[in-house]
Amino acid sequence: MIETYSQSAVAEAKAYVENVYRSVVLRNPHESEFHQAAREIFDSLVPVFAKHPDYRQLGLLERLSEPERMVTFRVAWVDDSGRVQVNRGFRVQFNSAIGPYKGGLRFHPSVNASIVKFLGFEQVLKNSLTGQPIGGGKGGADFDPKGKSDMEIMRFCQSFMTELYRHIGADTDVPAGDIGVGSREIGYLYGQYKRIRGASEAGVLTGKNPLYGGSLARTEATGYGCVYFVQKMLQSADLDFRGSRVVVSGSGNVSIYAMEKAIQLGATVVACSDSAGYIHDPDGIDLETVKRIKEAGRGRIAEYAAEHPQAIYVEGCGGIWSLPCEIALPCATQNELNEQDAERLIANGVKAVGEGANMPSTLEAIDRFHAAGVLFGPAKAANAGGVAVSALEMAQNSARVSWTFEKVDGQLHRIMEKIYADCTEAAEEYGHPGNLVVGANISGFLKVAGAMIAQGVV
Ligand code: NDP
Repeated sequence: MIETYSQSAVAEAKAYVENVYRSVVLRNPHESEFHQAAREIFDSLVPVFAKHPDYRQLGLLERLSEPERMVTFRVAWVDDSGRVQVNRGFRVQFNSAIGPYKGGLRFHPSVNASIVKFLGFEQVLKNSLTGQPIGGGKGGADFDPKGKSDMEIMRFCQSFMTELYRHIGADTDVPAGDIGVGSREIGYLYGQYKRIRGASEAGVLTGKNPLYGGSLARTEATGYGCVYFVQKMLQSADLDFRGSRVVVSGSGNVSIYAMEKAIQLGATVVACSDSAGYIHDPDGIDLETVKRIKEAGRGRIAEYAAEHPQAIYVEGCGGIWSLPCEIALPCATQNELNEQDAERLIANGVKAVGEGANMPSTLEAIDRFHAAGVLFGPAKAANAGGVAVSALEMAQNSARVSWTFEKVDGQLHRIMEKIYADCTEAAEEYGHPGNLVVGANISGFLKVAGAMIAQGVV
């Protein structure tokens, strides 16, 4: 049922939301990514505050947008030449209303307070959408793993954990991977945590190798989950992956497994990228080559063209969105798809966009997609499969059991379908049918709000 509210209720809700947004900007100066995430979330929540004026009295938006806690810390480590290097580490514990803080660690030179807070804020609502008992957090460091030796990565991870360990725990805060943090880094981080604590507490980190408590299908979960979500969007419009051309940005963890599932469903993936450029292979990307170059070899995507002469390598990333496709999956990083990119995709006939990365589309790009009637799956819904399976990893660690790949993948599939249904329903109920940005924000928010109200003013 579509609810409508009086004009005055909507005007009051808008004024409230605008006021809180202004105070977020004032209290977090120069944090443009955090402001951007807040803008998108806040705008979606106007109908909620129109329906529930009491939520304003409870200061729910003010509380939601102020992290419960944030730590920054020095990470000193020794490089291979014997020189001491210093980086800055971060952990934001954003909201614990529905469970222990949960969210990845990112190692990338661009990491700062704004990036960590935008990711943490998104994570709160994303984790709520999964239906699992997990709150939201995020962390990382401005450390660049590129070009570092294995031993340098290990020393960095050990130093990072030597501070982080005091802030985390299986029932308090459970980090995982993100950009620059994969199974190797999680292994070094876990080894150091175990050494300091003198105990095997597997549930303190997720994304572990299955050899010591990791869940099967966690590696695949974000990419597969994104494709399961987009599949539901496509079905709603009588479309399908089968026979479609797909463009995927990035060639990291999320991209590789989004490509894998799209190919399994009968699509042709015609392009993917890394931070230096993209490859266009109209015959369809050979995923085994990409895996060998990027997963096993930690090489550059440019190497693909040497092995596949029919493929073209183009320097620079943005041009990937000028390639004709029916489905676009931005899976690399924030703000990688802007308004002009959206216009080019629309002009070339794109039918659906699913965000595998966090906040890859600018607000203007999202507006363009909505205006053109393109099916749009926002990150906090479309890429929630990774953290959903992380929660399943925590459950397996608590019970000291290991589920089969099929069992985990089956649960992932059901969770993504449920997220799609919840977002669709919330969008409809609050007067924005088909707008999954609004639906995801409202559906995620309502559960967190309910838990916060039930726990009193904390
Ligand atoms: P990876 O480090 O495995 O891969 C990142 C990919 O993006 C690499 O191909 C990298 O290229 C490329 N990339 C990084 N920065 C840029 C840039 N500025 N411009 C263009 N390309 C870039 O990370 P993930 O796959 O884990 O994460 C990708 C995105 O998905 C992030 O937004 C992350 O927050 C999000 N995400 C990840 C989840 C997970 O489970 N891993 C869960 C939910 C969301 P290069 O190789 O050159 O560095």
